[in-house]
Amino acid sequence: MTVATFASLGLSPPLLQACAEVGYTTPTAIQAEAIPPLLRGQDLLGLAPTGSGKTAAFALPLLQRVIAGRQHAYRRVRALVLVPTRELAQQVGQTFRRLGTSCPRPLKVAVLHGGVSPNPQMMALRGGCDVVVATPGRLLDLLDRNAVRLDTVEALVLDEADRLLDLGFSAERERVFAALPADRQNLLFSATFPPEVQALADGLLRDAVRIEAAAEAR
Ligand code: ADP
Ligand code: MG
Repeated sequence: MTVATFASLGLSPPLLQACAEVGYTTPTAIQAEAIPPLLRGQDLLGLAPTGSGKTAAFALPLLQRVIAGRQHAYRRVRALVLVPTRELAQQVGQTFRRLGTSCPRPLKVAVLHGGVSPNPQMMALRGGCDVVVATPGRLLDLLDRNAVRLDTVEALVLDEADRLLDLGFSAERERVFAALPADRQNLLFSATFPPEVQALADGLLRDAVRIEAAAEAR
């Protein structure tokens, strides 16, 4: 099998530059498999262990979509990433920011999680943002306060879906999903695939590409 390069996956120059700047020389297995279908707008089920590079596997194609579709003068939420924990929200938000630095217009990423005052998060949202990374509880809280609108979301990511479900996400997801447009790209990533995750995937994904990747040997 030939080794893929980021350029061969269809990523645009600003994102190739971002990969080089953060020191990603070769795509991981899940990145090589996931990026082309994600750039085509397909739904995706990604089953891969921790450390396999899942964050960039979804951040790079979603950033490309955000850049390409920014015909509006104002910012609106184009991509929503749901994660189970505050730490993960910060990590994923950081990856979007780092990979988004080469974008033609500065990218705004709002990171929403509990354990801190909602006020700075509400201020960040008021300024407009392109990407929201959130834990479900705080996102619902901010939806209830009308601090965030999700009716412009084009892509939804459930990251670490198995852990999201462990948190009791099933009770919250209907309310979050109801705030999203029905026509959108859906991505679900999980390290394990118990029946509950399968049921979540079955309800969420349409004609999804399914990718299973082994741990990266690094
Ligand atoms: P996962 O979500 O699958 O657990 P992460 O997305 O957190 O994995 O990535 C794990 C680590 O690998 C991170 O430190 C990330 O910066 C690094 N990484 C991701 N993709 C690449 C790549 N193509 N080349 C080198 N390092 C990478
Ligand atoms: Mg991850």
